[in-house]
Order: sequence, then C-alpha cells, then structure tokens
Amino acid sequence: TGRHRVAVIGGGSAGISVAARLRRAGARDITLIEPSDTHWYQPLWTLVGGGQAPLRISRRPEGAVIPDDVRWIRRRALAVDPDTRTVTLSEGAELTYEHLVMAPGLQLDWDGVPGLAEAVGHDAVSSNYAPQYAPRTWELIRQMRSGTAVFTHPASPLKCGGAPQKIAYLAADSWRKRNVLDDIRIILVIPDPTMFKVPVWSQVLEKVAHRYGIEVRLRSEMTAVDGGRREITVTDHADGTQETIGYDFLHAVPPQSAPDWVKTSPLADRASPQGFVAADRHTLQHPTYDNVFSLGDVAHLPTSKTGAAVRKQAPVVAANLLDVLNGRSPSRRYDGYTSCPLVTARDRMLLAEFDYDLRPAPTFPLIDTFKERRDMWLFKRYVLPPAYWHGMLTGRL
Ligand code: FAD
Repeated sequence: TGRHRVAVIGGGSAGISVAARLRRAGARDITLIEPSDTHWYQPLWTLVGGGQAPLRISRRPEGAVIPDDVRWIRRRALAVDPDTRTVTLSEGAELTYEHLVMAPGLQLDWDGVPGLAEAVGHDAVSSNYAPQYAPRTWELIRQMRSGTAVFTHPASPLKCGGAPQKIAYLAADSWRKRNVLDDIRIILVIPDPTMFKVPVWSQVLEKVAHRYGIEVRLRSEMTAVDGGRREITVTDHADGTQETIGYDFLHAVPPQSAPDWVKTSPLADRASPQGFVAADRHTLQHPTYDNVFSLGDVAHLPTSKTGAAVRKQAPVVAANLLDVLNGRSPSRRYDGYTSCPLVTARDRMLLAEFDYDLRPAPTFPLIDTFKERRDMWLFKRYVLPPAYWHGMLTGRL
C-alpha cells in the first residue's frame, strides 16, 4: 500500500490523540493502522463492573473518533521492521513509512495464570479488564449475599494499577448498603509490599480496606485457578508459602505484556521483561530509531500506564515528531505524569496524580486530594468521559 509519511499503529487513546494533534498542527499524509471498528473508553469499565454505568457509554464507532484527513487502514499490524521501515499487515499487505508512532496498547495474558483463561466468564469469575466480562462483575456482585469474594492484582506491570482494588471497594460498599457485608469475607491479593506506590495514598487505602473489613494479602499473587472447584492458589512471596482459597466470587486481573509481535521486534526494550517498546523517558523517541516514537500502554516508561498519562504524552510525541519531520531534535519533555482515580466507595474517590519522582502533581492545587471526595467521584463519572471524547481525542485537551 505504498509509502506513508507518518504511520500510527493503534487507534486507541494514544494513537487517536497523537493523530488529532498532528492534524491540528497541519501535518499531512497520516495513516492509522487499526483493525477494530470499536473505540473503547476503558476507565468506565470499573464503573460498569460496579453497576454505576452501562457498558454502551464506553463505546464509540472507531470511524467516529478518527480525525478528518487521516487515512484508516483497517488491518492488524503483524510485524514491524524498523531497518527497512516496513510494517507487515494482516491479509498479506505491507506498508512502508518515514515516521512511526507505536500505540497498539498492551496484551492481556489470560494464559499467564493456569486455569484463568478457562474460568473467566464462567464459574463465578469475572474481570473488568475486558468489555465482554465487565457487566458480569456487577451481576456477580448483585447476586452475592454471603461467602468469599477474592480480588486479584497481577505481578506484571498493568494498565491502571488502581483498578484491581477499586472494584473491591465498589463491591464492598454495595454489600454494606445491602447489609450483607458482615456475611462476606473479602480478600484482596496484591503483589507489592504496599497498597499503592505513593505512601500518602497508600495510607488512605489501608484505612479504606480496614473500614470494609477487607483482608489484604500483600506480596502475594494468584498463581492458579481451578474454576470447576472454585478454588485459587495464592502464593505468598514473602515466605514462599501457598494457600488454597475457595471463592464464591473472583474478580481476576490477568498478567499483561506487550503484544507478542512487539516483543519479538527490534523496537522492544531488552530491559523490559514484558517486551515493551524502548523510549526515551522524556522525549518518548526510540533510542535507536530516531523516526520512531511510542506512548501509552506499549511504551516502556517508569510510570503507571493510564489514559491520564497518555493525555500528557500525546502532545509531547506530536511536538517532537513534528520537530523530527522538520529536521530538528525533539524539544518537548514528558515528566512522567500519571493519575489514578481511586474510587473508594459508590460516591467517593481519591484522585492520585504523580510524576516519575512519585511527587504529587495535582491538576487542582486548591483541592485536598489526599482524602476521599464526592466531587472527584462526580468528576470521574460525569466530567471525564465527555472531556475524553470531545477534548482529548480531538487534540484540544
Ligand atoms: P488502548 O487504548 O488499549 O488502545 C490500543 C489500540 O491498539 C486498540 O484500539 C487496539 O485495537 C489497537 N491494536 C491492538 N493491536 C493492534 C495491532 N496489532 N495493529 C493495530 N492496532 C492494534 N486510565 C485512566 O487514566 N484512568 C482510569 O481510571 C483507568 N481505569 C481503567 C480501568 C480498566 C478496567 C482498564 C482496563 C483500563 C483503565 N485505564 C484507566 C487505562 C487506560 O484505559 C489505558 O491506559 C489507555 O487506554 C492506554 O491507551 P493506549 O492507546 O496505549 O491503548
């Protein structure tokens, strides 16, 4: 399909934001490679699983979010060769590019925990990480009156590091409201030594978990699922012991990694065990291939993978790519900003915003975001989705 000035792989949050910004700056000959006909606003899936939003409002037709005058190739990238500047596409096609933006997101490794792929979607196992299972989370929460509910967090890097625990709080709060909380044992399995990377918010979350009577297993990981028996194995990495726990409801978050074709490409960072794409942490340019930038979940950056991070990365990639197109070196820098809206109840939220140095980086400096707030919950539910569709994806915000 010929040679393209700028090729963008992936039309998710990152790919669309960059393409929109390049178009607004007047760049021409932009090609987007995206196989899906649906664009998802994934942050809503937590609220879908919590029974607070319908799935359909997280979805738009892909064609409706692609900026005008961006060529859409509805195929899957299967391989990339940065030496010949070639992308191999599904159905036997190929294209060459002058500049490349890598934004295909990450891969959910359901096979990474034995038994999980077979159990998810059945056997009282759900996951907010896939749109086909998120509505099931709410069905299971709604039906539960007693027994054991387990919420797991994978040991790999993951998108939205707070999401595995947010759904535990939404579930617990709804059980509290229905007066069944005392009859439900809730276990939250977290591989890290603390509940959250930034100590100030970790301390608040400890109190939240305590308030609901949640048993938090730190330094622990779910290492097997037996859906037929409704049992999981939890391995405690502190002392190497394993425990079998029976569940009546399991919310599982799978291990995550770069898509397989990215892992095996020369763009992958050898320092990343999951094969994420190498990128300068400030310019987001590939260290070997000057004409390649990456951002979003696929980029190997020492910050949390979120849509909020993408919002700050996209302007940097667009500006630096324009610099390179004009024969200059990249001039914009990304500081590692990311944010995690930690929903702690059905009407409360903590907005954790921080940078590479784990320093709080508040968007609203006058608001005390170290405590749970109702206005922040309203912000997530009612302000952020339209801001995403009309602001971020169009390159305005
Ligand atoms: P994506 O948006 O996933 O897009 C990747 C795109 O690439 C997709 O359109 C896909 O079809 C396409 N693609 C895949 N493979 C190929 C291929 N081979 N060729 C071409 N195209 C391909 N972030 C927040 O900021 N706040 C939150 O509260 C929040 N909550 C979350 C809750 C959940 C349950 C989940 C799952 C995520 C949450 N996130 C949140 C994270 C956020 O959704 C992601 O970080 C963000 O979508 C990353 O953007 P991306 O463009 O890198 O990847």
